[in-house]
Amino acid sequence: MTAVDRAVREPGQDFIRDIIRADLESGRHKTVVTRFPPEPNGYLHIGHAKSICLNFGVAEEFGGRCHLRFDDTNPAKEEQEYIEAIKRDVRWLGFDWGEHLYHASDYFEQLYAWAEHLIRAGKAYVDDQSQEEIRATRGTLTEPGKNSPFRDRSVEENLDLFRRMRAGEFPNGARVLRAKIDMASGNINLRDPVLYRILHVPHPRTGNAWCIYPSYDFAHGQSDAIEHITHSLCTLEFEDHRPLYDWFLENLPVPSRPRQYEFARLNLTYTVLSKRVLTELVRGGHVTGWDDPRMPTLAGLRRRGVPPEAIREFVRRIGVAKANSVVDLAMFEHAIRDVLNRTAPRRMAVLRPLKVVIENYPEGQSEEVEAANHPDDPAAGVRRVRFGRELYIERDDFMENPPKKFFRLAPGREVRLRYAYFITCREAVKNAAGEVVELRCTYDPATRGGNAPDGRKVQATLHWVSAADAVPAEVRLINPLFTCPEPSASDFAASLNPHSLEVLKDCLVEPALAADNDPRAVQFERLGYFCRDPDSQPGRPVFNRTVGLRDTWAKIAAAPA
Ligand code: ATP
Ligand code: MG
Repeated sequence: MTAVDRAVREPGQDFIRDIIRADLESGRHKTVVTRFPPEPNGYLHIGHAKSICLNFGVAEEFGGRCHLRFDDTNPAKEEQEYIEAIKRDVRWLGFDWGEHLYHASDYFEQLYAWAEHLIRAGKAYVDDQSQEEIRATRGTLTEPGKNSPFRDRSVEENLDLFRRMRAGEFPNGARVLRAKIDMASGNINLRDPVLYRILHVPHPRTGNAWCIYPSYDFAHGQSDAIEHITHSLCTLEFEDHRPLYDWFLENLPVPSRPRQYEFARLNLTYTVLSKRVLTELVRGGHVTGWDDPRMPTLAGLRRRGVPPEAIREFVRRIGVAKANSVVDLAMFEHAIRDVLNRTAPRRMAVLRPLKVVIENYPEGQSEEVEAANHPDDPAAGVRRVRFGRELYIERDDFMENPPKKFFRLAPGREVRLRYAYFITCREAVKNAAGEVVELRCTYDPATRGGNAPDGRKVQATLHWVSAADAVPAEVRLINPLFTCPEPSASDFAASLNPHSLEVLKDCLVEPALAADNDPRAVQFERLGYFCRDPDSQPGRPVFNRTVGLRDTWAKIAAAPA
């Protein structure tokens, strides 16, 4: 990634927005119309979010509109479930297509008419070659392709065969309709591309009305033209398709003349954004579903507790460029932390509890101390947290023989319990195996609220929960799905992280967390950001770790696989 890519940009500072601004200023367009065109063959992921934020973002910024158009030309792979999920995710991300919801399948009749138009103009023909033969005669980057023996069929024969294709007279794969452009073109996309295939498969929207379906290339630009899209923004792999995009528009009586512009797709380290791989992760049971919190899908990120603002902020920070790059996952996590640090309420939870008994605190007694919901935002208010004789702290916060730089609890040492009192460890009680199972401590009643009247200091402040009312909880630590920074899409299984999910079953959380059904992330003090998972049961909440307080992925990456 270049420094320019990494720089934080103000909205309106990329080459796409420059083009749009110039087109509006020159009067080439009165208003900008963009579209987000997902194929409903999977769930949306963080890469799609870049395209959504760009398309809907420029429409908003320049007072235009953005259409949501399902590119539903391949019924063999597409499902209604995906259509619903995509709509939900675009809305969740904060965008609205208003009345402008479209489907490529809305245009099947028009596209078909345009295919006949090309046939009549001598610019398309029915080819009886098999898919393999077509592939074998397409040529290479250095050699031209070979003309099909069916290339010079008469217009009448082509029309007759194409109509019979539509009527269902031929089996799958028997024939295709191809554009007649140039088998020797330096651009392979112009070597008589396929326009229609026979596919006897019902379509989620058109049912059994069709058994021939248009190719992506034949459907996409014409759909743009029908909707009067002004700027058709797509990713770089379509750059070589642009001459074909233009060829269709020049050779068909389309109602408008959109233009295609390409930008770099988002790639993220430790992440795979190929829909094929994501589908395999789901189907192969490597994750629990499209909304598994480890998935880079918007549904997964939502379940993990990532707020949509953080995704928009991340996309804004990476900007839009024309050169492919790989963005550090740390940058995404940074954006998540920035948003959650500002917005997430603070709570206390102990993931690996160690019991503490305050020997000088009266038995059977307890009190409430005041805890701030957000350190920088007094408006977030306070809550009352119970303190008593038996508490739990984090096991990691105690060491029997601490090394020099360990400042937390140890025998004889005094620390602060957040919002409560100073305590001093008097004894570590061990079980038969020699493990510390309980700490005997004393507290200083004069330090209520966490400050000593004599001004003495402690080196550490620990979070804690009270034994009397803490609620048992399960916490799922979500780690990257892959162990290497750039996992290969062809052999993704080799770099799957066996520790992508760590489940802690014996956690304890303060009661406010159990009572709260809010799915938004909170900060567990000193631990990170966590959100309630839908697997929660009454009295037994389940939390996902959205992100730690600092980079944890770097450590994971460095650990031997
Ligand atoms: P495929 O075409 O292989 O099914 P896709 O990821 O391209 O996968 P689409 O549904 O066609 O899926 O994508 C919809 C839009 O999102 C397209 O305009 C595409 O260019 C854009 N898009 C997809 N992946 C990314 C990405 N990683 N970064 C930016 N834009 C993306
Ligand atoms: Mg695509």
